[in-house]
Amino acid sequence: MFAGFIREIDSVGRIVIPMQIRKELGIVEQGSAVELFSDGKQIIVKKAVSNCIFCKAESELHEFEGKFICTSCLEKLKAE
Ligand SMILES: [Zn+2]
Repeated sequence: MFAGFIREIDSVGRIVIPMQIRKELGIVEQGSAVELFSDGKQIIVKKAVSNCIFCKAESELHEFEGKFICTSCLEKLKAE
């Protein structure tokens, strides 16, 4: 899991994620989003995944004003 890359943090807190890791995760393009977590001892950087704001589904998503809703929840809303 850990490739053991060592990177220095720059003056504003940025690090460079090695291209090898970016390619593995499919986050090569500029603007690719990652999610950061900390448990006080380590920083976890995860590929950000869009999901439905209601049921957390990751497929069949429709974007509306920066939020995502899946087809199933959209149909349920329409039926209300
Ligand atoms: Zn949903």
